[in-house]
Amino acid sequence: MFSLPDVIEPSVSACSKAQSQLMRALGSRVQIGAEISDDYQTDDSGIIGKRPIAVVLAETEQDLQTALRIAAETEVPIVPRAGGSGRTGGAVPAATGIVLATLGMNRPIELDRGEGSLVVAPGARLSEIHSLVESEGWFYPPDPNSAELCCIAGNVAENAAGPRAFKYGSTRDYVLGLDVFLMGGQKLFAGRRTRKGVTGYDIVSLLVGSEGTLGVFGNVTLKLIPKPASILTMLCSFSQMSDAARAVERVVLARFSPRCIEFLDEKTVSVMREHGTSVAEGTQALLLLEFDGSEAECERQAEEVGNLCVAAGAVDVRVALLAEQRKMLWNTRKQMSHAVRKRALHKISEDVVVPRRSLLELIDEVRRLGDIYQIDTLCYGHAGDGNLHVNFLWNTDEELPRVDGAVRDLFHKTIALGGTLSGEHGIGLLKAPFLGLEQSAPLVDLQRRIKDTFDPKGILNPGKIFPSPGRPNTHGSC
Ligand SMILES: Cc1cc2nc3c(=O)[nH]c(=O)nc-3n(C[C@H](O)[C@H](O)[C@H](O)COP(=O)(O)OP(=O)(O)OC[C@H]3O[C@@H](n4cnc5c(N)ncnc54)[C@H](O)[C@@H]3O)c2cc1C
Repeated sequence: MFSLPDVIEPSVSACSKAQSQLMRALGSRVQIGAEISDDYQTDDSGIIGKRPIAVVLAETEQDLQTALRIAAETEVPIVPRAGGSGRTGGAVPAATGIVLATLGMNRPIELDRGEGSLVVAPGARLSEIHSLVESEGWFYPPDPNSAELCCIAGNVAENAAGPRAFKYGSTRDYVLGLDVFLMGGQKLFAGRRTRKGVTGYDIVSLLVGSEGTLGVFGNVTLKLIPKPASILTMLCSFSQMSDAARAVERVVLARFSPRCIEFLDEKTVSVMREHGTSVAEGTQALLLLEFDGSEAECERQAEEVGNLCVAAGAVDVRVALLAEQRKMLWNTRKQMSHAVRKRALHKISEDVVVPRRSLLELIDEVRRLGDIYQIDTLCYGHAGDGNLHVNFLWNTDEELPRVDGAVRDLFHKTIALGGTLSGEHGIGLLKAPFLGLEQSAPLVDLQRRIKDTFDPKGILNPGKIFPSPGRPNTHGSC
């Protein structure tokens, strides 16, 4: 059963000092008391955190600096927040304190056509970035299915990925440089604006995926690539889950590079049907594949990969050539998370990764866990990367210990298969107690020391990533 970690709470006098200093310095850009929406206590993980004493609706870099200075001086915890679509509680306050919302910082956007790069403000919505660059013939590949909800700062903080990561990689592969504001308010530029560069330590890579625990991001410089001329989407139906898993392995072994290979299990297929997607009778699993490049190249790959899937047992192969057809397939896939949510009152979506050869073993394990713990399970995800979104669904609190058992066993199995706890959602609050399952104590300790260097008082987004010192990692050894 999830409970917030033990973190140091600020004193009442520190909180009221922080509130009055923020109001004096930032005026209407600060909300306090009843003005604060309950949304700031949660994110898409569904965890309810501490109620903030103040929410700073930052509009400028000076606002970020002021908030970070006041937090440091008063020693009141501060949590950066972007679109609030995170799935592991990264933006959920574990301690009473300030929420620093960067959603309002959504300008300027500056496209450098000569360099093929884009400078975006932290609050820029990902869907807007996609539209802007594609209208200019450029392409920014990272595509979490939450593109309408999330912002670039949240993507950078989580190293977000999505279906296209199979061919193009994750956010980290596209961040050339960024402005970072440290506790106290100091501004640094890390990285570069050029396409190439190896000067000094790779601080950008450290900051990408740091889950709001090392610094607060301002403008981000992104690398763009040319927009592919054509896209072709293919839906393959399988009457056996094992055939679909085998097809993924064969496509990869044959060195094809679709931009996405998405897997959907039988229960996910029924959710798709409920949402109007026509799927062949007897389908137990689907692969949604997408190719890009020249038209001829897309068609060649689709034909050869289609044949491979049939040889692996596909019973139906459909190709979507028209933008409308593609859009419908992807809309259903993108709405999956919300559609699944309607099947039960509560759900938790894990995003474990295993080597691709172990995909079937993982899928079987999820079914086994559902049977043992008597809970509804459902899997879909980025099979090309071995990254599955394993959903556990439940309705009552009595089921919670069983859900906990299933999640714990899933993590143990993932590690035993040579996998990793998170492919793209991060560790946040939810997975912090399990970090020691995957990483050695000295490695966790090294990361704690890095955190201390950036944030010696431990007030920037406390409680995230690391197991709470007050509650040692009970799930620790494998
Ligand atoms: C329907 C749905 C589908 C999803 N699909 C995918 C998917 O396919 N792939 C994927 O990777 N993720 C997916 N996600 C998860 C989520 O959208 C991503 O983790 C996303 O990157 C979060 O961005 P956000 O702007 O909402 O950040 P938030 O949730 O607001 O914050 C996320 C983290 O970023 C930190 N942060 C926010 N702003 C800043 C800043 N200015 N500086 C430093 N740190 C900051 C926060 O403290 C927090 O730790 C999905 C979520 C939903 C709801």
